[in-house]
Amino acid sequence: KQRNPGQPEYLQAVAEVMESVWPFIANHPKYTEQGLLERLVEPERMIIFRVSWVDDRGAVRVNRGFRIQHNSAIGPYKGGIRFHPSVNLSILKFLAFEQTFKNALTTLPMGGGKGGSDFDPKGCSNAEVMRFCQAFMTELYRHIGSDTDVPAGDIGVGGREVGYMAGMMKKLANKSDCVFTGKGLSFGGSLIRPEATGYGTVYFAEEMLNHAGKTLAGMRVAVSGSGNVAQYAVEKAMSLGAKVLTVSDSGGTVYDAEGFTPEKLSRLMEIKNRDYGRISEFSEVTGLQFIPGAKPWQIPVDVAMPCATQNELDEMDARLLIKNGLQCVAEGANMPSTADAVKLFEQAKVLYAPGKASNAGGVATSGLEMSQNAMRLSWPREEVDARLHEIMKGIHHACLDYGTRPDGSVSYVDGANIAGFVKVADAMLAQGVF
Ligand code: NDP
Repeated sequence: KQRNPGQPEYLQAVAEVMESVWPFIANHPKYTEQGLLERLVEPERMIIFRVSWVDDRGAVRVNRGFRIQHNSAIGPYKGGIRFHPSVNLSILKFLAFEQTFKNALTTLPMGGGKGGSDFDPKGCSNAEVMRFCQAFMTELYRHIGSDTDVPAGDIGVGGREVGYMAGMMKKLANKSDCVFTGKGLSFGGSLIRPEATGYGTVYFAEEMLNHAGKTLAGMRVAVSGSGNVAQYAVEKAMSLGAKVLTVSDSGGTVYDAEGFTPEKLSRLMEIKNRDYGRISEFSEVTGLQFIPGAKPWQIPVDVAMPCATQNELDEMDARLLIKNGLQCVAEGANMPSTADAVKLFEQAKVLYAPGKASNAGGVATSGLEMSQNAMRLSWPREEVDARLHEIMKGIHHACLDYGTRPDGSVSYVDGANIAGFVKVADAMLAQGVF
């Protein structure tokens, strides 16, 4: 706490991992050697920089840019870029820390990093977004590279923003590789990358349910958010026969008692991805109920998939969901459930998957994009999807290996934290102190 004042999200993420690994370390004392834990909680490098740009009115705007290069023990730093006014050091350090263990779980050779800016793309023109992305890259480009640090998208950074940043990267570096993952298909992007986080979250939920003798088909699902992860979670959950009842944004929740259909989802995607609109507009065109200011968690469901942002599901929400018969939580977002909510889920024996396990499909497919780029090949959709599905099954297995309790139930929190920790820690110990 003394080393990281004013960084509650970072301390929350570290405490959650340490609570899981502490009893494990007691039985495996080699993990106390070489100052391993102290090194693991200190990012290898943190870069903070000024981003100045000129808006459409000719006014100079100044934002802050960040890149946290947390850990490179098992490969180049890898993790998304977030543009949101809430972005600060604490949030990006928590994300980079989580990313380190998540990337280890994918079994692909990727270290952990995260970056972003307090820039708010909402309400900006396309030209402003492009100018901001270019200004951001004039500093970031010197710190990244396909063997050093490979960024991707996150909140506020989708295909458009990745394209502008990758283009500027190419110009400044005078190299064609563009470095980023999540690129457009015409310049090295991978099929299934946009879908991967949402699909992977649903694959993981299905694995958990199957392991417990259940299936997603016929279950009622609440999804929060309406961005990249949420949209493809809705699509895959529907295709597996679930009834999806909600989506949301920071303005409120859209509730569809009948359950989403592919037609309604494509309307939502048009409004969000083409017009950069709000879900209140989606409710206007579809006639679905919009509940201003509400989160989706008041709706009785069997499965909750928080796919918006950190700490969006608190203790009160968890109590209500459990009271209403919740069976499973698969996190599409990073750390969307507060520590108290997680404790309640685990006490109630709800099948609960932390984001670092259930949302790892996005970065896993980014890893597949890096492989395709390195080979100068592109795999067909079916192949990438099949590999994604196998990776999610593998992560589920790793969670069972380290998280199965004596009574046969599974703590996916312990499973994911310990499995990720072991891989990173072993690599750090083998490489010595630096
Ligand atoms: P998008 O920007 O595409 O969508 C974010 C969604 O979350 C929007 O609906 C947004 O609503 C909502 N949201 C964001 N901040 C808040 C807030 N403070 N309160 C309420 N709602 C909010 O981002 P993604 O879908 O890419 O990311 C969503 C989550 O998934 C994040 O936690 C991200 O870290 C995580 N993730 C993403 C991956 C990816 O591949 N994209 C990979 C792994 C994890 P509004 O427009 O109103 O802000």
